[in-house]
Amino acid sequence: MGGPESRLAESSPRDGSPGWLPQARRLISPNWDERPPGIAVDLLVIHGVSLPPGEFGGPWIDALFQNRLDPEAHPYFRPIAGLRVSSHLLIRRDGELIQYVDLHKRAWHAGVSSFGGRERCNDYAIGIELEGADEVPYTAAQYQTLAETSRDLLVRFPAITPERIVGHSAIAPGRKTDPGPAFDWDRYRRLLAACQGGAPAPG
Ligand SMILES: [Zn+2]
Repeated sequence: MGGPESRLAESSPRDGSPGWLPQARRLISPNWDERPPGIAVDLLVIHGVSLPPGEFGGPWIDALFQNRLDPEAHPYFRPIAGLRVSSHLLIRRDGELIQYVDLHKRAWHAGVSSFGGRERCNDYAIGIELEGADEVPYTAAQYQTLAETSRDLLVRFPAITPERIVGHSAIAPGRKTDPGPAFDWDRYRRLLAACQGGAPAPG
């Protein structure tokens, strides 16, 4: 209930809180609400994002997800600074994992979306952003962290099967293109299988 301040208080991570990954650095976003009652989390959505587009390493993704993006800092920021958005997780170019929203809460990452005939994917999805751009290869460190994080998520949320891991572009076709053609799905799925104890990844 209440405004952003009370959301921050409600979402304050505690040691042992089941919706927070212990290996992630925590930066709390207020851009979440409750999932619908009784819903199973059964979709993992992979995104790509960079701010400004094509530039990596700045503080701007954190700022956007925490509603403190300076609209004057770059021309691209002015129309997006007022958005209220956040994924649950972000993987930086160096493989660092950041968590903004409790996995059991509904983060606002997918927007208008549909998977398997079900709309409003945010209701039942976890969102992971990769810092990147559609046409720029993602880094080896990002694939590794993504595979390890995905393994952990699939343990915590068994309804997310490997077939239920999709790109944002697949659930919002015509509107979103991320993570883009640069994202190597085969490489990711091999690494995930290896993390899950399957055959070693060939590379
Ligand atoms: Zn996206």
